[in-house]
Amino acid sequence: MSEECIFCKIIAGEIPADKLYEDDDVLAFWDISPQAPVHFLVIPKKHISRPVDIVEADEQIAGKLLRIGADLAKEQGVEDSYRVIFNNGAKSGQVVFHVHMHVLGGKEKPWPM
Ligand code: 5GP
Ligand code: ZN
Repeated sequence: MSEECIFCKIIAGEIPADKLYEDDDVLAFWDISPQAPVHFLVIPKKHISRPVDIVEADEQIAGKLLRIGADLAKEQGVEDSYRVIFNNGAKSGQVVFHVHMHVLGGKEKPWPM
């Protein structure tokens, strides 16, 4: 947990979020500022700042983000048309420095962030 991190605070329950899924490793919740009809975030509970900071020991959790995102996309009925986005670094548009996978769907080519 990083004390300054807003997503760690959501994981700790210190900030509310509208959750779709949670287990020991992963949390998924609706984006507060949706850019598509379906827009949620899937995050590891472990604090990792940026995708580029993912190391070999994180492989399983990194794959799990994709698998949980797929399950939830099916649940939301967007399995035929969703995009996933990981922003990495401020110049790419990363604002929250805790790895998160955007899942966007529900319209054609839900892009850009
Ligand atoms: P980034 O630009 O870092 O890839 O995306 C961060 C995302 O987190 C943005 O889409 C933003 O709307 C979302 N976000 C930021 N703060 C909160 C929050 O407190 N709650 C929720 N649910 N989403 C947030
Ligand atoms: Zn964090």
